[in-house]
Amino acid sequence: MVEELVRWGYLRTPSLIEAFRRVPREEFVPSSLRKYAYEDHPLSIGYGQTISAPSMIALMLESLDLRKGQKVLEVGTGSGYNAALLAELVGREGRVVSMERLPGLASFGRENLRRTGYGWVEVVVGDGTCGYPPGAPWDRILITACSPGFPPPLVEQLKVGGRMGAPVGHFYGGQVWKVAEKKEGGDLRVENYSPCSFVPLVGKYGWKE
Ligand code: SAH
Repeated sequence: MVEELVRWGYLRTPSLIEAFRRVPREEFVPSSLRKYAYEDHPLSIGYGQTISAPSMIALMLESLDLRKGQKVLEVGTGSGYNAALLAELVGREGRVVSMERLPGLASFGRENLRRTGYGWVEVVVGDGTCGYPPGAPWDRILITACSPGFPPPLVEQLKVGGRMGAPVGHFYGGQVWKVAEKKEGGDLRVENYSPCSFVPLVGKYGWKE
């Protein structure tokens, strides 16, 4: 899988290639879907949610320039797979907090992370559109569910010079993976990366239930 992602240009940064090699994706999917873990497709993880395709995850992580020691907030833990990749990228000297609104999925993600040696990633149950003020300011924020925009509390909790990535658009279609960099004074400089398709971000500053 990693060789394919490199060949097709989704993976370029050595630290990210290494992270993809280390994290066992089959440990983050339901056991009945293990045989598909290394194919380039999204997979169901229950509760109507999905783990994104490896190429989409590669694109997201390449766009965010993650480095050792950073403090990262992920919104949408799901399986915990993306959180494990974040943990590899920032290392133990960094901090990874991942928020999930569905308690059943938070437990699934937390257990997968513990079993694979990433038990130090903090999984928090709650509405990630409101962020996690105790850990702010964040160097990086990733939203892994489609959002109507960049939620204001998350913009507030992003460091100046920090980056936030999100699939912005409607859950019926037309979503784009966008990365916002926070400038001095609080303005955002937004770059569009790629069309994409994610499950909806449901919360106070996301879509309504
Ligand atoms: N990053 C995950 C995939 C996430 S799927 C992985 O690697 O497997 C999107 C997830 O976002 C779902 O689990 C969904 O329940 C969660 N979600 C949706 N709205 C949310 C919100 N407001 N706060 C936290 N999690 C949310």
